[in-house]
Amino acid sequence: QAKETGKNKYQLYQSNYDQLTRRLKLENDLQCALERKEFYLVYQPQVDISTGRIVGAEALIRWNHSTMGIIPPDEFIPIAEDIGCITAIGEWVMREACTQNVCWIDLGLTPICVSVNLSARQLQQERFVETVCDILAETNLDPNFLRLEITESMMMQNTAASIRTLHKLRGLGVSLAIDDFGKGYSSLSYLKDFPVNVLKIDRSFIQGMTQNDYDKAIVSSIITLAHNLKIKVVAEGAEMIEEVVCLLHYGCDEVQGYSFSKPMLAEDLGELLRIDDPY
Ligand code: C2E
Ligand code: CA
Ligand code: CA
Ligand code: CA
Repeated sequence: QAKETGKNKYQLYQSNYDQLTRRLKLENDLQCALERKEFYLVYQPQVDISTGRIVGAEALIRWNHSTMGIIPPDEFIPIAEDIGCITAIGEWVMREACTQNVCWIDLGLTPICVSVNLSARQLQQERFVETVCDILAETNLDPNFLRLEITESMMMQNTAASIRTLHKLRGLGVSLAIDDFGKGYSSLSYLKDFPVNVLKIDRSFIQGMTQNDYDKAIVSSIITLAHNLKIKVVAEGAEMIEEVVCLLHYGCDEVQGYSFSKPMLAEDLGELLRIDDPY
């Protein structure tokens, strides 16, 4: 018995130790990942439910580590936030996504709106609005085709300054979306105080819809509320056709989820856009 406990304890130490060394390695290697061009973006289509056309895409970062393979953003973004390199990475993401969107437009495809995730640190940067403005000018992207995604937790910090920044961003012509809506400490006052155009319903509600009536009621109420406030609704993480049917009934504007497509490489989305193009 005692021996067993000792062994379990040892395994626990070992696994904590492994986690720690992995974390330290990622911290260390993140510093030069940009320079080494180890990041790339994938794009997940956003589809207009009533027409079935692709109208947007969310840019999602991937890290192809030289020895550890693909590291998911859920693991390395929080580390990049802790050590401060998220601002440089975030700027790279925005520049890359804007450049790519201009490429698609230059191919003569019907323009789509590209969405980019922001982290709290970026929004708090003194020069953030200027940076966005510079990237738009540099890439020559029409601001109507750039959307920035922020989360509720970001809005809870530094509220007055955040609201000012968001108004300036809207002034540039870019649109703003609230990400993961309903997941955190949602406050309806955000919808009133923050100049947002789009609300993305968190996938936990979408995926619960076919199992219980509570999630159905929540989703349909969010859609009605948003529409009354002239805010567009994107449903995140719809995996099943039943969910999409339900969302269509509720008048949801767009879906983004595996039911339509997983995130894909830029060239594959380009191909899909070409096939999808009505002209
Ligand atoms: P998010 O912004 O909520 O992005 C949506 C996530 O849900 C993506 O995971 C996407 O692949 C996944 N997803 C989409 N449809 C489905 C579905 O039908 N089912 C399921 N199970 N999942 C679905 P991903 O790419 O692993 O990104 C995870 C998170 O990492 C993102 O969540 C976002 O918070 C963060 N992230 C990704 N790229 C960036 C970035 O460039 N900058 C920042 N700051 N954060 C990023
Ligand atoms: Ca997002
Ligand atoms: Ca989300
Ligand atoms: Ca998220």
